[in-house]
Amino acid sequence: MTAKTDANGGYILQLQNFSVNDGNGIRTIIFMAGCPLRCAWCANPEGLTLKNPMTSYMTADRVIEKIKKQMIFYRHSKGGVTFSGGEATFQTEFLRSLVNRLYDMGIHLALETCGYFSFDAVCDILQKMDLIFMDCKLMDPRKHLRWTQKDNALIHENIKKTYALGIPMVLRIPTIVNVNADRDNMKETFSFIQQNVPDAQLEFLPYHQFGEEKYKQLGMPLPEKSFGTPEASLIEEFTELAHEYDIETVSYR
Ligand code: SF4
Repeated sequence: MTAKTDANGGYILQLQNFSVNDGNGIRTIIFMAGCPLRCAWCANPEGLTLKNPMTSYMTADRVIEKIKKQMIFYRHSKGGVTFSGGEATFQTEFLRSLVNRLYDMGIHLALETCGYFSFDAVCDILQKMDLIFMDCKLMDPRKHLRWTQKDNALIHENIKKTYALGIPMVLRIPTIVNVNADRDNMKETFSFIQQNVPDAQLEFLPYHQFGEEKYKQLGMPLPEKSFGTPEASLIEEFTELAHEYDIETVSYR
């Protein structure tokens, strides 16, 4: 599950400053390379592998240097740093070394994760987060396996264990017509939340096709044409349904 990069450095897609979409205030998003899943709709195909023409190696010192220059913006906006990917926990030692250093600098930290990790291996990292976004893509194990190439049992266990740490959590559903944007999947997801992580917030992320150009640049086959972007009215319908389960919905987008 982990890759052979270390505390000194690792592979990054990009450092994106002035982001307001993945946590509170003005943030820097560190998009880390590598991912154990293979979601058929992935909008960041350059994040699947560590080394490809769209990733670059960066030392932890260099990342920290760049973050330091943004600290004034975090301070005034109550922002911070969000780790994303790819899957940020994939390069575990590199992530740990960045998290420990930024934590000691008093920076607000958030993590976006697909939830497919060894909990024991990353528990100390999770404990240093102020906010955790975790995906909950599909409840049906067979469909999850079909569309992401991995079973969802480990992800569901990790959602429960992470929630038990008491850190604010937002569960995210990438919402894709012809994959998971149906009432059965939503009802099952909302029951899971209600029973296991009742205080977690919920965010729908409607599918988009922005990643297509990157597939072309990497010479990879495009995602299936059958994937669809949900209408706003469908998201509204799911939002109302979630409220019936007493789940609070949010939108950082
Ligand atoms: S978890 Fe995210 S980065 Fe990984 S394959 Fe799925 S959509 Fe892509």
